[in-house]
Amino acid sequence: MQKRTKAHHELYDAICAIVGKKYVVDDEFELIPYAQDISYFHGVMPGIAVRPGCTEEIADIVKLANRKGCPIVVKGGGNAGGGVTHGEPGRNIMLDMGRLDKIEVDIPNLKVTVGGGARLSTIDDALRPYGYYANSVIGPYFSATAAGLAAGICGAGFSKNVASMGCNWMQIMGVKVVLPNGDVITTGAGPDSNINRDSIFFREVTGPDLTDLFLSSGGAFGLITEITQKIVPMPKVMKSISYVVPTMEAAWDISLELSAMGRVPYSNSMMFEMKNYLVKPIVGETDAFGAYLFSVECDNEDEANIRIKEISDVCEKYGAECGNPKLDWFAMNGATGTMQVVHDVGANSCPFMTWESMFPRARSLEYTKGLLAAFASVPGHRENATGAGLYLIPNGESFITGVTLRSGFQTPEAEQHLRDTWAAGAKYMRDMGTSSAYAQGTNSQYIAGAWSPTYAKTMGLIKKALDPNGIMCPGLWNL
Ligand SMILES: Cc1cc2nc3c(=O)[nH]c(=O)nc-3n(C[C@H](O)[C@H](O)[C@H](O)COP(=O)(O)OP(=O)(O)OC[C@H]3O[C@@H](n4cnc5c(N)ncnc54)[C@H](O)[C@@H]3O)c2cc1C
Repeated sequence: MQKRTKAHHELYDAICAIVGKKYVVDDEFELIPYAQDISYFHGVMPGIAVRPGCTEEIADIVKLANRKGCPIVVKGGGNAGGGVTHGEPGRNIMLDMGRLDKIEVDIPNLKVTVGGGARLSTIDDALRPYGYYANSVIGPYFSATAAGLAAGICGAGFSKNVASMGCNWMQIMGVKVVLPNGDVITTGAGPDSNINRDSIFFREVTGPDLTDLFLSSGGAFGLITEITQKIVPMPKVMKSISYVVPTMEAAWDISLELSAMGRVPYSNSMMFEMKNYLVKPIVGETDAFGAYLFSVECDNEDEANIRIKEISDVCEKYGAECGNPKLDWFAMNGATGTMQVVHDVGANSCPFMTWESMFPRARSLEYTKGLLAAFASVPGHRENATGAGLYLIPNGESFITGVTLRSGFQTPEAEQHLRDTWAAGAKYMRDMGTSSAYAQGTNSQYIAGAWSPTYAKTMGLIKKALDPNGIMCPGLWNL
């Protein structure tokens, strides 16, 4: 038998009594996977990791943690890139939500209720036989969890059709949450949520709705154990088209014009800078600036063709040329979210420091140029080969600029360089009044550092009211 390297966590026996011994680990070796996210931010070793099976077990653990003053941190799929929650290193109770994976499909009411730990791809697996899908990520489709996405990133996530449907928060009807004192509430059905409704109906009712307090919160105000989300019929016709665009200016002109149409013609639109590792090998050597991928989802072929023509007219007006068949294939598989590309390529793209930030559409180009200049200003930028190219996703009144920072080397110097580059980008974003999308660890602290005194005070009061013992994800948002 393997020898333990440390004494049991102070709450080991009590937690085992709640969830069963086989769902608890607290030896150092077993805790390593829980210490770090995918970024180069320094990790934090928890004191114990627990895999609860239901909301009630989580509520019992939270009550226990309150009695003992022991911090709780949480992990869904572990795809965070903004740093882990600090808490109390060596003492944190890490809740691994993966066993909360129930999926209840409700076709007549066009919704699905899923456990907070359900992996995003499994939700679509459950819906596909009925001809529906849930709009979720393009990226970590197979690994991120429903609650990790809802709580861990701004807007509750950038969906596969973010360019036409907006961020995921619009799809979320309500959440079940274990509050920091162990109480359980369900949001989303108005003030009578917990009185006489056994199900989330809708959140557009009279009365304050608390759903948004928990979305993009990182878990600072409670643990999401269940999410009810709208579902979308699968399109009858899916088409894709790609374009190679000559300049950065032309790339922005195309998105500005297409996204201003009354009915945007695409379901999704993504532009990758040519040096991005996802498109460069497909296009080969070229002087062009970037590659546009468009997907179109419709009920019939004629409408799809009209939309493709609308896209083509605008692209060609700005000097873009049709992409090659491989790029079209990427548009279909990457931008429409059949996810094969993500499955094959996305999983290999870590570790990195990544940025997705939103900026008002009219000044997005200027903002993005400034962001690139901020990265490039860090000494050693070229030597460390930092940067894998940017991407652009139009999203209504704001555009999403994504930059994946990667280094060609895995040396301590290269890792430090990535952290320095992160700091330079974060400062630029903060100065410009925006931030990286991650509602996570280090990044949340940096964002909260820019809150106005009144906003910080309000957040502090909410935190104090909900979490008087300060046990829920301490350190997030500097709370
Ligand atoms: C390769 C790659 C591609 C990506 N592409 C996309 C994309 O296309 N669109 C997009 O929107 N995002 C994308 N992301 C970002 C990713 O969706 C977020 O980091 C998301 O938060 C990860 O979810 P997770 O389940 O892995 O959460 P984790 O990494 O486990 O946790 C993330 C945060 O959520 C909190 N949290 C987790 N579970 C709960 C819970 N039950 N209750 C309360 N708080 C909780 C944690 O405290 C933490 O702060 C990508 C990430 C990677 C690595």
